[in-house]
Amino acid sequence: MFERIGIERAHCCFCGTYGLVAVLVADSERSHVDVAGCERCWRATHKAADLLHQLRPPAPSKGKRTPNKTRKPASEAPRSTEPYRGPSKHEVGSLVPPAEERTA
Ligand SMILES: [Zn+2]
Repeated sequence: MFERIGIERAHCCFCGTYGLVAVLVADSERSHVDVAGCERCWRATHKAADLLHQLRPPAPSKGKRTPNKTRKPASEAPRSTEPYRGPSKHEVGSLVPPAEERTA
């Protein structure tokens, strides 16, 4: 690989044109060749990299993901944690009718 990018005046390694070039400076462990290229040729190599990216097989999936549980839609019912919003409990009468109405 390369350890840095430098700028200098040199011949492009791809087309041979002399001028301002960007130089990929090799790290000495794995690669020993610095690569200098003019702007036009580096743009071409970028397209080549994009082409390789498109042709790359998809990465294998890491285990089959379980599908997410389908969520129930939020109901209109108030949550049990909400405070009581009905009429005052003192204003509400008993559901059981008074004794005299029951007999009538
Ligand atoms: Zn070039």
